[in-house]
Amino acid sequence: MSKNLVILGATGSIGCSTLKVLRENPNSYFLYGVTGGKNVASMVDICREFAPKYAVMADDESNQQLRRMVHDLALSCEVLNDQNAIAQLAVEPEVELVMAAIVGAAGLLPTLAAVKAGKTVLLANKEALVMSGAIFMDAARQSGARILPVDSEHNAIFQCMPDNIQQSLGHCDLADSGISKILLTGSGGPFRYSDVASLSAVTPAQACAHPNWSMGKKISVDSATMMNKGLEYIEAKRLFNTQPKQIDVIIHPQSIIHSMVQYCDGSVLAQMGEPDMATPIAHVMAYPNRQVSGVQPLDFFSIGELSFIPPDYARYPCLKLAVDACYDSQTATTCLNAANEIAVAAFLSGRIKFTQIAEVVASCLDKLSYIGLETELSVLLEVDKRARMHADAAVKRIFA
Ligand code: NDP
Repeated sequence: MSKNLVILGATGSIGCSTLKVLRENPNSYFLYGVTGGKNVASMVDICREFAPKYAVMADDESNQQLRRMVHDLALSCEVLNDQNAIAQLAVEPEVELVMAAIVGAAGLLPTLAAVKAGKTVLLANKEALVMSGAIFMDAARQSGARILPVDSEHNAIFQCMPDNIQQSLGHCDLADSGISKILLTGSGGPFRYSDVASLSAVTPAQACAHPNWSMGKKISVDSATMMNKGLEYIEAKRLFNTQPKQIDVIIHPQSIIHSMVQYCDGSVLAQMGEPDMATPIAHVMAYPNRQVSGVQPLDFFSIGELSFIPPDYARYPCLKLAVDACYDSQTATTCLNAANEIAVAAFLSGRIKFTQIAEVVASCLDKLSYIGLETELSVLLEVDKRARMHADAAVKRIFA
């Protein structure tokens, strides 16, 4: 029987990889609903090819345009109208799987709605978890929602974990299961061998040209600063309930090993594959079964070598900021995420230099003040809002 799937962020890079997996397994899923931001042309293509029951764009003008085009092309899909349609789509009773692939904080409320409704949530939108932490994981525990990690590293770690850990994400005890460490790998991005002094001159196009992965712009810049690894570090803490000594970051330039789990007997389990998000997406969609993804199997003879380097915080100050925030407080990680979104957008639009992303984030963390209980979503949303204001002001000071 086919499963009803909603893709939040269907027009993006993860959305596109999810649709690729759907094409490989046409009888296993029914595309119940799709959401996008502004890319109407992509959404029309999706509606034409996959005939989803519902579609909606977050941007009003784009949504109206989509409605006109769906009507003119006589496509069968219904374009929703309501401001809350994205979150509502994710909680419809018929929906079983929700791919959470909106980028950034915009994904929090619909993803959390799906979690509260007890859906199986395929989590790509790491920012939602970084922003809301324990609130997110507690909501899953209460509703019985299953969270399956899409991020290739967390998906790799999940695959290398024993079944009891897979069944108790968020409140598992790694040491009890004989696990000594999570080895979180990252490619180091496009500037891993560049002269650190030259980094202030890199352009958005250079920062977005990831050597191994094809991704959206925000995560590409995050990979270049290694803020992405920092966000993943925080994500790993939330998903696998880690203590400070239970995660190490390792730079692995080839992106063949997607992360590893080290056990107390000396065994290290690694998950490997081509750097293509269709693999982890196919895994979480079919979990606990397996299905084809359309990704080529690894050719070990053409890989040649696998190498490993410790991260250098002088090259990657954003990684250090994120690791420190992780052990500071929930307020700090919410603030870090918000300030980073503003700083990355400012870099992409040419208002600040690449190296000033870390400066903007650090200045917001310095101004951090505690405004209430971190277990309340309204408090974290207020922290997010204030951090964005501080970050905006910091960008304006630099750009003035
Ligand atoms: P993209 O920028 O490619 O896509 C983002 C999606 O979110 C698009 O569908 C976009 O719509 C939509 N969107 C943007 N703003 C809004 C908004 N305000 N409200 C609703 N929808 C919005 O990002 P990626 O696919 O690269 O990344 C998505 C998430 O997955 C991120 O959290 C990222 O960290 C995570 N991730 C991505 C990986 C990758 O390989 N790409 C790997 C691991 C995790 P539109 O384009 O129509 O404007």
